[in-house]
Amino acid sequence: MDNTPFEFIGGSLCLDFANTVGGARNQANATDQLTSYTDLLHWSREAGLIGDTAFNHLQTKALNDVSRANDVLAEVKTLREAIYRIFSDIARGNTVDDTLLLDLNKAIGQSFHHARIVRTPDGYAWGWKQDMSLDTMEAPIVRSAADLLTAPSTLSRIRECASDHCTWLFLDETKNRSRRWCNMRTCGNASKVHRYRARHTGNAEV
Ligand SMILES: [Zn+2]
Repeated sequence: MDNTPFEFIGGSLCLDFANTVGGARNQANATDQLTSYTDLLHWSREAGLIGDTAFNHLQTKALNDVSRANDVLAEVKTLREAIYRIFSDIARGNTVDDTLLLDLNKAIGQSFHHARIVRTPDGYAWGWKQDMSLDTMEAPIVRSAADLLTAPSTLSRIRECASDHCTWLFLDETKNRSRRWCNMRTCGNASKVHRYRARHTGNAEV
């Protein structure tokens, strides 16, 4: 098993994708977890978007067309930042900027030719044409963002981590809507330690 830094705590595929930037965007502690097309493949496999066969095929294909693989990486990162900004705005109760909707709509236009209706045991569902193109992971991510954005009941549960050093997004599934941190073990505990120190050094905030 590959040792990757990815975590899937967002409760939605598009939020997990936005969370492939560690730390806080635009701060010194920001770390991009997608530094190569291979990283993107690892994420896609862990997210369940591709299997081992597709992983190996796409990795070989990327080695044979480095320029296209880099273009896809740049493209999905642009999409990632649009997704982050859209749902960060929503988490803060702001209206989403038109230019961000434009970015999402552009991605929908580019990727939805992969969309298919497939049979399932219960009936029919959205599926994707598995054509092994280098951007095969983009369509499900775009679809996830479109679905989330058009589901008012779920939309009200989107949160951005309360830590000043983290910009991860997640769906608050708690009954009383009280989840504040992406991860209690990391950001939640860091915040507790910070508040404890502030109290004991006489510095404001509790
Ligand atoms: Zn966090």
